[in-house]
Amino acid sequence: MEEVNVVQTKNGTVSVASAFAGHKEAIQQRDHKFLRIAVEEAYKGVDCEDGGPFGAIIVCNDEIVARCHNMVLRNTDPTAHAEVTVIRKGLTRQIYYAYGINSVHTSGY
Ligand SMILES: [Zn+2]
Repeated sequence: MEEVNVVQTKNGTVSVASAFAGHKEAIQQRDHKFLRIAVEEAYKGVDCEDGGPFGAIIVCNDEIVARCHNMVLRNTDPTAHAEVTVIRKGLTRQIYYAYGINSVHTSGY
């Protein structure tokens, strides 16, 4: 049986990446891959002058099923943050009913 090395932080959260030492590198590589794509989406939003430099993606079963960026300026909507617009986009496509969300990666807040 694999030895489990759970790391609990001061605020009480548990580090999943550290829970299984053998999986830490794979999880970090996966996170970096998806965060890089979220950052690319942030650049896209800046190029389009849609809003602030923030992007987000939704990942289901290691597949990107929705991606969007901050749309505050484009929509004149102060709630149109990247993590909000990507969820709205995903809802439109009824992704959640089909797969559920595995993770949301965002380049900012
Ligand atoms: Zn936000």
